[in-house]
Amino acid sequence: MADRLILVTNDDGILSPGLEALERAASRFGDVAVVAPEREMSGVSHALTLTKPLRVRDAGTMRWALTGTPADCVFVAVNHLLPRRPVLVLSGINRGPNLGYDVHYSGTVGGAVEGTIQGIPSVALSLVSATDFPFAWAEPCVEALLERLLADGIPPNVTLNVNIPDPSIAPWKGFKVTHLGNRFYSSDVIARQDPRGGEYLWIGGTRVTLDKSPDSDCGAVHEGYGSITPVTSDLLAREAMGALGWANGLGRPGKEPTP
Ligand code: MN
Repeated sequence: MADRLILVTNDDGILSPGLEALERAASRFGDVAVVAPEREMSGVSHALTLTKPLRVRDAGTMRWALTGTPADCVFVAVNHLLPRRPVLVLSGINRGPNLGYDVHYSGTVGGAVEGTIQGIPSVALSLVSATDFPFAWAEPCVEALLERLLADGIPPNVTLNVNIPDPSIAPWKGFKVTHLGNRFYSSDVIARQDPRGGEYLWIGGTRVTLDKSPDSDCGAVHEGYGSITPVTSDLLAREAMGALGWANGLGRPGKEPTP
C-alpha cells in the first residue's frame, strides 16, 4: 500500500523557509507533495483565480509552483496534479501570526479552508514572530501536533487554525484549544509619493491586539501557548435568524414595497 500523502501549501510562496520547515515536519508522517504559490500571496484569503490562466512550474520531486492563490494550489493539487488523494492538507508555516480577524484575510487560512471544502482534514499553521522567525524551532511543535492529529483526526467541516508563538516572547507551554480573539489593525492609510511624483497609498498598518483573555488565540500565544482554534466555513449566525424574522415574506408578490 502506498504511504499516506500529505499536501503542503502556503501563502508566502514556494521559496519560503516556513514552507520547507512544514515539508520536513510532514515528511516524518508520509509522502509529501508541495503545491505552493509562485509568488507571495499573503492576504488573498480564499480567492480563486477565475479570469486568467494558471501556469504550473515543476519545482522538484512532487513539488510544483503555481501562479495562483493558496486556494488555487489546493484545488489544482487535489483535482489535477496529485497522483492520489491526500489524507491531510497543511498550509504554512506562515511568516507571522494569523489571529482573530486575521482568519478572514489570511491566504494561509484560505488554503486550509479549501482543503476542508475538498473533504480533506486541513490545518493552517502560522509562526507568531516579528523578526527572527525561528521556523526550525517550531518544527518539533508541528511534529507533536501532526502525530496526534493523524491518529485522532479532525471533526468534519472543521479547519484548525494553529499559531505557534516565538519562544523569545514567552517560554513554550505546549498547545491549547482557543477561540478567535478580537484583534484589530490600526486604521491608518499612509499616503506617500513615488519617485516620479505620483501618490500611492499603503494600508494594513500597525497591529493592535485588544484581546488578551487567556482562552482567546491572541491571549494564548502571548502567554507562550501554541493556539489551536477550530474554525468552520459555515459562517451562519444562527442566533440572528430569529431577530431577522421581520424579513420573512417581505416584498412578496402583490405586496410590493411602496416607494
Ligand atoms: Mn503569509
